[in-house]
Amino acid sequence: MAAHYDVLIVGGGIAGLSLASALAGTCAVALVEAEQELAYHTSSRSARQLIPSYGPPVVQELTVRTLELIAARDAELPEPVLTPRSFMLIGSEHAVAAEASGHMRSITPAEALELCPALVPGTFTAAGLDTGSFGCNAPLLLEDHRQRALAAGVDIITGARVHSAQRVGSGWQVGAGMEAFEAGVLVNAAGAWADELAVISGVEKLGLQPYRRTAAIAAVERPLPEHSPMVAAADNSFYFRREGGDVLISPSESVPSGPEDAKPRPGDVERLVATLNKVTTLGIAGVRTAWTGLRTEAADGVPVAGFDAEAPGFYWLAGQGGYGFQTSAAMAELAATQILAGQQASPEAADTGPVSRTAQALAATRWSVRR
Ligand SMILES: Cc1cc2nc3c(=O)[nH]c(=O)nc-3n(C[C@H](O)[C@H](O)[C@H](O)COP(=O)(O)OP(=O)(O)OC[C@H]3O[C@@H](n4cnc5c(N)ncnc54)[C@H](O)[C@@H]3O)c2cc1C
Repeated sequence: MAAHYDVLIVGGGIAGLSLASALAGTCAVALVEAEQELAYHTSSRSARQLIPSYGPPVVQELTVRTLELIAARDAELPEPVLTPRSFMLIGSEHAVAAEASGHMRSITPAEALELCPALVPGTFTAAGLDTGSFGCNAPLLLEDHRQRALAAGVDIITGARVHSAQRVGSGWQVGAGMEAFEAGVLVNAAGAWADELAVISGVEKLGLQPYRRTAAIAAVERPLPEHSPMVAAADNSFYFRREGGDVLISPSESVPSGPEDAKPRPGDVERLVATLNKVTTLGIAGVRTAWTGLRTEAADGVPVAGFDAEAPGFYWLAGQGGYGFQTSAAMAELAATQILAGQQASPEAADTGPVSRTAQALAATRWSVRR
């Protein structure tokens, strides 16, 4: 006997869990995750920073809304998810001007050096600062979503990879691990596997591309002061930020990959350490741990949220790229609204229900996938 739900979410990363908690209590929801643990893939591998000036305009809107929603939730939690942490871009005037947008303001190199004395003077000629940026306690956010979903009766099933899905009548029949499900709406929150899940479901792929990005925690001889901003090179050659007495560092690479359990490649972190030991006085002494995750993007770099116009009841929540946390709450809000409204055809339908400014911005950009 198949278990029946109104909504079956595939993927237990930040996208799927945010939606599960946004839908909690409104209808019968289940979430299935292939791995034994939730958030095993990209969602446990991020840099944990939410940057309102980062990404294309619609991503920036989604980030502002996400920050509003998480801040409202923080007021109810014993420990906050968000901690103020500015974001600083450095580089040539041309590179900083090309990357800086939205909430970022230009600052002088002298001001940048004051904010981050570990930078070597003369290694950059321009800087920008986003003071509206936050550090994100990602494990706490994920756990809060999980608990809210469970408390409202959402079934969360791990170790169950979806291997078959077909449209039957007005719903979906889905096989995951040893289990069988029926659902009115099938949500594709499968991260790097989103196109693969579409194929399994008989739905045309969108051409989503996963890109590798590596990060590491490194020990330093001279730790960064407590309120140091996260610092990123405007030419995307590195970023670093304080992580207690250590630093989190990344070579900011964007290398195409298939969907996989990505691992760091030999030499990537060593080259990064050599670069950072030239442009900073941190004195990176050793790497404690390193990891690689996949940032999955649509061709236009904008996250994908919406019903597939050619596959009734198939909802895409994918392509979050490097913005999966900073857009998560707003994307979930939009997706929950659209799913509950059963919106399939009309952009005006986005006006039904408590739709945010951000949701409208996204809906106007890409209100239904493939139209
Ligand atoms: C180094 C790095 C730094 C980053 N830094 C930031 C940052 O500072 N801020 C930010 O906002 N974002 C950041 N990101 C991006 C962010 O981590 C991602 O956008 C986000 O985690 C994607 O979440 P997701 O839920 O879509 O994917 P995932 O976390 O990958 O979850 C998808 C899940 O679907 C499951 N799945 C796939 N196929 C199936 C199937 N057939 N059946 C069942 N389950 C399935 C997978 O097992 C997986 O657990 C960073 C990414 C990287 C790699």
